[in-house]
Amino acid sequence: MADILPFQRKPKTPATKRSALCANGHHRWVVWQSKPFDVKRGKLVTVYRCERCGAERSESK
Ligand SMILES: [Zn+2]
Repeated sequence: MADILPFQRKPKTPATKRSALCANGHHRWVVWQSKPFDVKRGKLVTVYRCERCGAERSESK
């Protein structure tokens, strides 16, 4: 009987490494997706995502 291995996790990619800039709030925002409307507010919403750390923020205009 072989030993039952615990759930294997993929090693994190270097891209997810924490950036000093991100830690200081200087994220590298790129447009992630645009939603026609924010259902709650009825406004146009653009979602941004940081290329480096994957943080997300949304902006409504
Ligand atoms: Zn970031």
